[in-house]
Amino acid sequence: MTHAISDTARLFLSAEKRHLIDGTWVSSNSKDQDTIIDPSTGEPLCTVPSGNAQDIDAAVMAARRAFDEKRWTGKTPAERAQIMWTIADLMLANLEELAELESLDGGKPINATTHGEIPAAAEAFRYYAGWCTKISGQTFTPSIPGLTLQGITQHEPVGVVGLIIPWNGPLVMAAWKLAPALAAGCSCVLKPAELTPLTALRLGELMIEAGMPAGVVNIVTGTGQQVGAHLAAHNDVNKIAFTGSTKVGKGLLNAAQDNLKKLSLELGGKSPVIIFDDANLDEAIPGAADAIFSNAGQVCVAGSRLLVQDTVYDDVLTGIKTVAENLSLGPCLDPNTDMGPLISDTQRNRVHNFVELSKKEGAQVIAGGDMYEGPGFYYQPTILGNITPDMTVYREEVFGPVLTVIPFTDFDDALTKANDSKYGLASSVWTQNHAQAHNMAYAIKAGIVWINCHGIPDVSMPIGGYKESGWGRELGQQGLSLYLEHKSIMMKL
Ligand code: NAD
Repeated sequence: MTHAISDTARLFLSAEKRHLIDGTWVSSNSKDQDTIIDPSTGEPLCTVPSGNAQDIDAAVMAARRAFDEKRWTGKTPAERAQIMWTIADLMLANLEELAELESLDGGKPINATTHGEIPAAAEAFRYYAGWCTKISGQTFTPSIPGLTLQGITQHEPVGVVGLIIPWNGPLVMAAWKLAPALAAGCSCVLKPAELTPLTALRLGELMIEAGMPAGVVNIVTGTGQQVGAHLAAHNDVNKIAFTGSTKVGKGLLNAAQDNLKKLSLELGGKSPVIIFDDANLDEAIPGAADAIFSNAGQVCVAGSRLLVQDTVYDDVLTGIKTVAENLSLGPCLDPNTDMGPLISDTQRNRVHNFVELSKKEGAQVIAGGDMYEGPGFYYQPTILGNITPDMTVYREEVFGPVLTVIPFTDFDDALTKANDSKYGLASSVWTQNHAQAHNMAYAIKAGIVWINCHGIPDVSMPIGGYKESGWGRELGQQGLSLYLEHKSIMMKL
């Protein structure tokens, strides 16, 4: 039976949406609105202000004032931690509503948002709440002849930070940036993706309820070209934390150059899943299928390149094809849905163009390969074989449920193929030989290597990219340091 939308979610959808600036919900300076579409049906859900440069100026000014007046850093670390814990508690108290909004807005199955996304987002606030009281420096005894000196290092918040996030994990992405930024003591301007701003706006309400001082968290909705670009180029912003496509991420280098603001970039991927012939195939086959078909492949760490040892190639291919053909595609609110729609018709056409081009370039469609007729933006779980390195689909991120399968002969061949990418975000190795697993994990050029599992993030473990997959690491202690300046103080005694 389809999950019924709660009254609270309905109420939120029907209410007028505004920007959160200086602790108040304010109307946009722009009259434009973005229509938010339910990808499961193609029907509009509500409209949200499509902000402009003036909105960003107001939000940055509010964040700066809050920072300079120490509205957040003036509290003790324990007081800040308490507010962050309360935010997490409120998120869980409103889990059903947040899960419904996230599913309706992004097309993720309700089971995934209820049991995965929303609890994970709340956990980020809990984890970083713990860091508030644990940020500390060191003392040193310098070795300068003839002088008695003491050295101290101190960590300070970087200042006003702009947080720009994508549509494929809206609340988790917001939490992964807001929580460490707040633990570090920064003031924030959050720009959600124009396709999926709803849970970020609801989170803004919960933050006010939790006691977040005015101006510490500001939220401006709108497009990347208007709102995102102006935030990224703003000279009173000290840092931009960006998650999104490699193309836009590269463009931010120009945006940041005027005031040389700090940049962290979580970008695209083309992550290999490597199955050796000694792997437990009962786990590896569903694991590899989940690595690409989870969230319809719209996952930065999606295992989109499956490398299989030639001795088990046919068995693995048959197994994954069976999984793909038995996945239940359906609307986000149906609890039986395994795979929901893609985020938009544009994204679905983009995915289909990749598949059509692959066919022209000589790839063989083993499963799927087409869109579904009817309402919603559904695409078949697709497997492509006969892949060669010159094919576009071998190199480029599709960001959809499209798996390329490539055989390998031995360890060295697998490693060469795994590293043959401009990206280096994630990977997984499936084998029962631990030495082989470790050797592969050390040799792969990727920010994270999963062994006998794939795509499991944990807030304590840093994640980020080698090569064109980005700069810096989010999550864990390293994720916190993105939002800190490191000062050395030397004192003559
Ligand atoms: P995108 O780059 O189009 O947009 C991301 C965000 O940037 C959105 O909020 C958008 O409005 C904004 N934006 C767009 N143009 C901008 C500009 N010129 N200046 C400033 N901001 C701008 O990406 P997307 O399509 O929303 O998301 C999909 C991409 O995100 C994929 O490539 C995926 O791999 C990547 N991603 C990476 C990670 C990671 O952790 N590495 C996680 C999730 C998604």
